[in-house]
Amino acid sequence: MLAYLDHHATTPCDPAVVAAMAPWWSEHCANPANRLYRPALEAAAAVERARGQLARVLGSSAETVIFTSGATEANNLALKGVCEAALAAGNLRRRLVSLVSEHRAVLDPLAYLGRHGFPVSLVPIQPDGLVDLAQLEAALGDDVLLLSVMAANNEIGVLQPLAAIAALCRQRGVLLHVDAAQAAGHIPLAIDELGIDLLSLSGHKFYGPKGIGALLVRPGLQLAAQLHGGGQQDGRRAGTLPVPLVVGLGQALLGAEADREERAGRLGTLRDQLWEGLRDLGGIELNGDGAPRLAHNLNVTVQGVDGTRLHRLLRQRLAVSSGSACSQGSPSHVLAALGRSRQQAAASIRFGLGRGSSDAEITLAIETVAAAVRELR
Ligand SMILES: *Cc1c(COP(=O)(O)O)cnc(C)c1O
Repeated sequence: MLAYLDHHATTPCDPAVVAAMAPWWSEHCANPANRLYRPALEAAAAVERARGQLARVLGSSAETVIFTSGATEANNLALKGVCEAALAAGNLRRRLVSLVSEHRAVLDPLAYLGRHGFPVSLVPIQPDGLVDLAQLEAALGDDVLLLSVMAANNEIGVLQPLAAIAALCRQRGVLLHVDAAQAAGHIPLAIDELGIDLLSLSGHKFYGPKGIGALLVRPGLQLAAQLHGGGQQDGRRAGTLPVPLVVGLGQALLGAEADREERAGRLGTLRDQLWEGLRDLGGIELNGDGAPRLAHNLNVTVQGVDGTRLHRLLRQRLAVSSGSACSQGSPSHVLAALGRSRQQAAASIRFGLGRGSSDAEITLAIETVAAAVRELR
């Protein structure tokens, strides 16, 4: 038995989602951009339905939804699109602010923009993983164009205080982009109520298909397209829409919303069992201790063992990771920001529980870590 406990890297596609996508691959193959005949109009209607589903769950309106290939593309479109539009409009604000603990899909586009005339400030996080609001406020000067903050961290699951952050942005005239790839379908999000200007999400993080995501953009906000071509999606993101994936994305978010509370309750209990079992081994520390966290996340550092040898033993029975799936090789910048050394970061384990996680898997996880720690210490 191998327990899959890496749901922050990706989730299995829900069979109900696979079923909802099925007719759109071959049976209904028309291009939704072609408005001339009925099958195309039906495909276009399916796309609009999915837009409505996303908007409804996330507390916004359908016109805000731009489909992308995933959260990486949504983040690139948000950050580069806002900067390019600001430049064209002669906006004097140029600085971009974010947190050191962001995903590479935010940090790398920011670094790119930093090389192209948009200075970047990264605000540190506290030892519990949360940003200090006073420190964030101090960073939001008159020259700041946009703040990008993730809703839930992909390594330590920490939830940043979005309502307070959004209020600061409003006071300061700063646009707010939220990378919600780990949050959508897992915690309640109300875009309009919170006052979020741009929000990124990804289907494969909430039991949907890989290769599809969305950027939700407040109506009226100036955003320069990054993909030019056939003028699809009102020219905001050209390219033929992958109708099966779009349908799957809408269905997946509806499905994730339907069992969200029950799932969080059940996985929170399993996660706490896992933590209690690991804590009893001694010399194991929680990362993101005390902060509000995703119910299905647990990230621990094992003291006094070599990380490479630890993970070599774990992978025989557990699919877990030492950091983000997207930064293979280099030690976690998130754990470093919490004050962990390179050695400690390497000897850390990220558990991401999911819909299929069972008592038996939690027992297996505790036993596997216990055996590895006994062997290595
Ligand atoms: C997974 C993830 C991404 C990247 O999403 P893709 O759809 O795989 O491109 C971006 N940000 C966060 C926080 C993520 O967890």
